[in-house]
Amino acid sequence: MSTLRTPFVAGNWKMQKTRGEAEAYCDALAAGLDELDDDVDVAICPPFTALDVVAGALVPVGVGVYAQNAHQAASGAFTGEVSLAMIADAGATGVLLGHSERRQLFGETDDALTEKVPAAIAAGLAVILCVGESEAEREGGQTEERLTTQLTAALRDVDEAGLADLAVAYEPIWAIGTGRTATPELAQAAHAHLRGLLEERYGAVGHTVRLLYGGSVKADNAAELMAQPDVDGGLVGGASTQAEEFAAICRAAVRT
Ligand code: PEP
Repeated sequence: MSTLRTPFVAGNWKMQKTRGEAEAYCDALAAGLDELDDDVDVAICPPFTALDVVAGALVPVGVGVYAQNAHQAASGAFTGEVSLAMIADAGATGVLLGHSERRQLFGETDDALTEKVPAAIAAGLAVILCVGESEAEREGGQTEERLTTQLTAALRDVDEAGLADLAVAYEPIWAIGTGRTATPELAQAAHAHLRGLLEERYGAVGHTVRLLYGGSVKADNAAELMAQPDVDGGLVGGASTQAEEFAAICRAAVRT
């Protein structure tokens, strides 16, 4: 991991935890992260309903709080959607965009992300942008092409300044929630491709963007993944729902 980039570990709860459960988790996490200080940046992505509870508990102790999705419009007739201003109003500091579950199950498109990413930045929210290939795309030798398409579309209208609070999560779809983790070498190869795209487009600023690996990260495999030069942290799903396990992953990110 580059010393230029502070490690960053984010936990995605997906559709899990009531407000009460969230509150109890935050107490345990704050205790588990004690003493990590500035060695690692940490964020939690709770469901919308728990954003204010988690933000109230964790933002004061320096943990970022990200929504799991947002609509790009300021307001309007979009039943069931939540705007970026509403997310900020709930106390959140950021938003996760383009998660593969949104893409695969809920019709999230590259075109929508072309609008969502700059809208989130304009709203003053940090962004974790997710990209990743399916198993069929990997087997068909299309991984790099897919990553290029996704990254290029999402950043089409983002300038250098917009990268200041943006991280990219490489999440091979075949590794999400499956227990099949990418090897450190495979993760590094994908991250190196993403790094190359960022540097080609943004020059030296592209070197500062944190690249997170996601896909069955656990306390016992986090350190070897994050030891790779272009793996700057992790986006953690299942293992983030237990505060102690997630805190252990954050500690593993520091050690590397
Ligand atoms: C995710 O949903 O972003 C993820 C990486 O999930 P898991 O860690 O459970 O594979």
